[in-house]
Parts: sequence; structure tokens; C-alpha cells
Amino acid sequence: MKKEPFVTKEQLDEIVKEFPTPFHLYDERGIRENVKALNEAFAWNQGFKEYFAVKATPNPFLIQILREYGCGCDCSSYTELMLSDAIGVRGGDIMFSSNDTPAEEYALADKLGAIINLDDITHIDFLEKTIGHIPETISCRYNPGGLFKISNDIMDNPGDSKYGMTTEQMLEAFKILKEKGARDFGIHAFLASNTVTNDYYPMLAKVLFQEAVRLQKETGVHIKFINLSGGIGIPYTPDQEPNDIRAIGEGVRKVYEQVLIPAGMGDVAIYTELGRYMLGPYGCLVTTAIHEKHTHKEYIGVDASAVDLIRPAMYGAYHHITVMGKEDKPCNHQYDVTGSLCENNDKFAIDRMLPKVAKGDYLIIHDTGAHGYSMGYNYNGKLKSAEVLLREDGTAQLIRRAETPADYFATFDCFEIGKKLIQK
Ligand SMILES: *Cc1c(COP(=O)(O)O)cnc(C)c1O
Repeated sequence: MKKEPFVTKEQLDEIVKEFPTPFHLYDERGIRENVKALNEAFAWNQGFKEYFAVKATPNPFLIQILREYGCGCDCSSYTELMLSDAIGVRGGDIMFSSNDTPAEEYALADKLGAIINLDDITHIDFLEKTIGHIPETISCRYNPGGLFKISNDIMDNPGDSKYGMTTEQMLEAFKILKEKGARDFGIHAFLASNTVTNDYYPMLAKVLFQEAVRLQKETGVHIKFINLSGGIGIPYTPDQEPNDIRAIGEGVRKVYEQVLIPAGMGDVAIYTELGRYMLGPYGCLVTTAIHEKHTHKEYIGVDASAVDLIRPAMYGAYHHITVMGKEDKPCNHQYDVTGSLCENNDKFAIDRMLPKVAKGDYLIIHDTGAHGYSMGYNYNGKLKSAEVLLREDGTAQLIRRAETPADYFATFDCFEIGKKLIQK
């Protein structure tokens, strides 16, 4: 599929007058249309609810848009819980899906009334000791092990993943939790990441629905929801076909009717914890070409760096690049597009064919709306960029300012030298 920016060159010329590059730009219209389509695809299920994976894009302004469509928050840390609380997301609207969980995080999750999703059987005791009871609604994370395959394609390797409980542990955990007073149960699993196929959710649903029927039969507990978690991917490369959320919703419905309905479990709610699928395509990193360098290769140096988007450096991930205003020019120049970190992997693209880039050109780095800004760091003392929302009416709104040196030095503020640094 041809990858096109959601912003025009003319709009960008206006936006940069107010907000200098680099910044992440988000597309309000795209976000709204996408979440509507998700809800429609699962409208057949009474209790359907998306818990947005906060770690993907922890920006209150963006999450508030999703809230309008009934989304909750999937949290896995103390500050993510705080953020949810601050925007009024509490109680059953929070799914707390964490692992290796510190006690204070369970305590806060419980205080906010979040649904707790246990990653391990030993956490039953740990949770009970921490909060003094077992909540009435509780969820367990399942990991069947082995390889997760669609026909012959290996999608991922759950047997090598740190998350979740084994089949035996699930049964044991349900029995113990029931004894300790839990009433409503959930089952969760995340078995493959960034899947660009309509088959992932239905296949995962089959595994979880069958597991749910088994657990229900053997323990007699009430299973309230099944959480298909995240993992629906997006087409980062132009040759990939985007997922069809309607087909995915229908696929899950078929399995639901095959497995859960005959078992008398037609009241089970479907939950999701999508991150990438919700916002990935609706964000981009806007950066300016500030240098060109001709040595053993051709380099374009931009004003953003891996601090703003680490996926290429970390995973070798492909992010499509559009040179604004040159969309129709031939891609007949081969470049490495680099940031300024003293790390040779600080490259947004390697050997990428682009139109001839001139200094001052704006480059759009696509699909940074999820796991983009949020994975940022401060190596080389580089400061993280701003986040800007392109609203439906075409105006731009700052939704997070860029970091300043004072932010960088803030953790020294209790020291003399720190006070001096921050005054500067
Ligand atoms: C990361 C994560 C998600 C979201 O994953 P995406 O790939 O962004 O959909 C959902 N649930 C849990 C528990 C996660 O760790």
C-alpha cells in the first residue's frame, strides 16, 4: 500500500512556525476513525472493551480521545497508573497487566480498583500479602509455551517468553483464587507481537476460548472476560497489506460461536489491550535535514535522533520516510538518514532510496504513533522532542512540550551544582 503522510507540506509550513522540528505529530481524524472501526468490528460482543496499552503512547490528550469511545487503560507501572488516575480512568476501566511486579504497584492498582492480571502463580500470595485480600475480579496471564504458528509460519516463540503461567499453573491458580474468594475470572495472553495478518486474533482466541472452557469445567468458576491483549500490527513497509479489523472481529466471532456458545459461555466479554494498532499509523516524526555528508556513503543528517525514535536502532525496524514536497520526484538517491548520537546505529534508514534531499527539507518518518516517543531516552544528553496534535479542523495543538536542559538536570536539583545547572 502506498504510504502517504496525513499532513500536507502547506500545513507543515504553518505548524513549524509555531513548533520547531523535531516533533511527533498525531492525526486526530485517523485516531477517531480507527477506534470507531475497532468498536464496530467487535460490536457483536456485549461486553467488548479496548484497554489502550498506555506504554505505547502515554499522552493524556491522546488517551482522552480514545476515552470518548469507551476505551480504558492497560497499565503496567506505577506512573502509568498515576496517569490513568489523573485523567479519571479508574476501577474496571484499568487493566493492570504487569510482570515482575513491585508491591507498591499492586497497592496502587488495588487502591484505584483496577482489574489485576496476574503474570505468575506465585503472585497470588504476593498480592494477598501486599493488599491484604484477593479481589473479587481477577485475571491470569496464560503462556502455553512452544511456538505460536499459523499453518507453517512461526509467528512468535511463547516458550521463550518470560510472561504468563503454564497450562498446569493456570488450573492451580484458578483453584487457589476461587478458594480465596475470587468470583469473576479473566484469562489473558499475548503470544505474538506486531502481527500483520487477520488470522492472529482468531487463532489466539481459539487457544484462549478452549482454555477457558477447560478451566470453567474443571473449577466451576465464572469466566467474565477473555483478554486478547495486544499484538495486532501495522504495515510499516509499503509492500505490507494492512490488517482488516472487520475480518479480525468476524474471525473472533466465529471461534466464539464454535467454542464458547456451545459450552454455555455466551456471556464472556472480549477485551483487547491494543497499542500499536490504535495509534501507530496516526503519528509521525517530523524532522529537518540539517546536514549532508559525502564520504564512503551518502548521509543526510537530520535534527531528530534515536532519542526520539529508537525502533530502527534497537530492532533494525523499517520506518518509511517521505521527503515533503518531493512526493512525486523519483527515488534515485541512496542515503543513510542519521541522527546526531555518538552511536553508529543512530540511523533512521540505511541505504534508503529517496528523492534528492536538500538541507532544510522536512522529512516525515512514518508510523511513530505507538512505541515511538514513549521508548525515547536521553543518551548523549539529547532532549526529547515535543508532541503535537493535528486536530480535525487542521489546526495544531501542543500536547507535550519539548524537554529543556532543566528537565535533563532535574534529578540533580537537590544538589548545589544541580541548582546552578537548572538556573542556566
Ligand atoms: C505491550 C503490551 C500491549 C500492547 O502491545 P501492542 O503490540 O502495542 O499492541 C498490550 N498488553 C501488554 C500486557 C503489553 O505488554
